[in-house]
Amino acid sequence: MSNDCLFCKIISGEIPSNKVYSDDHVYAFHDINPVAPTHVLVITRKHLSAVNDRSEEHEPLLGALMVAANRIVKQLDLEESGFRYVINTGSHGGQTVFHLHLHILGGRPLAWPPG
Ligand code: AMP
Ligand code: ZN
Repeated sequence: MSNDCLFCKIISGEIPSNKVYSDDHVYAFHDINPVAPTHVLVITRKHLSAVNDRSEEHEPLLGALMVAANRIVKQLDLEESGFRYVINTGSHGGQTVFHLHLHILGGRPLAWPPG
C-alpha cells in the first residue's frame, strides 16, 4: 500500500470502482475514461510502480497478472473477436498512474502502430 497512490486507494475501497474481477493477487475494474467499448484495468494488489519494478515478489505477480487477464477476456467474451493487452511504462510509454496495471482493450478493431 502506498499512501498517495490512486490504485492502492481503489484496492482499499477508498476510491470507488466498477469491479470486473478479483482474486488473491489482482483486482480488475472498468477504466474511467474508456478508449474502446471494453477497457478494463487489471492491477496487482501489491503496490509495484511499474512492470519492471524490482521487488522480490515481482516475478510471480507478473504471471498472476497475465493469467487473470486471460480469465477476464474469457469472462468478457473477447476471445473470439480478439483484444489487446497494454502496459504503458514510464514517460515515453505514456504511463500516468505509477502502480502496475495492464489495460485490456477490445470491442472494436484497434489500429497499429500506436500514436
Ligand atoms: P496509464 O496511462 O497507462 O498509466 O493508465 C492509467 C489509466 O487509469 C487511464 O486509462 C485512466 O483513464 C485510468 N484511471 C484514472 N483514474 C481512474 C479511476 N478513478 N477509475 C478508473 N480508471 C482510472
Ligand atoms: Zn499503489
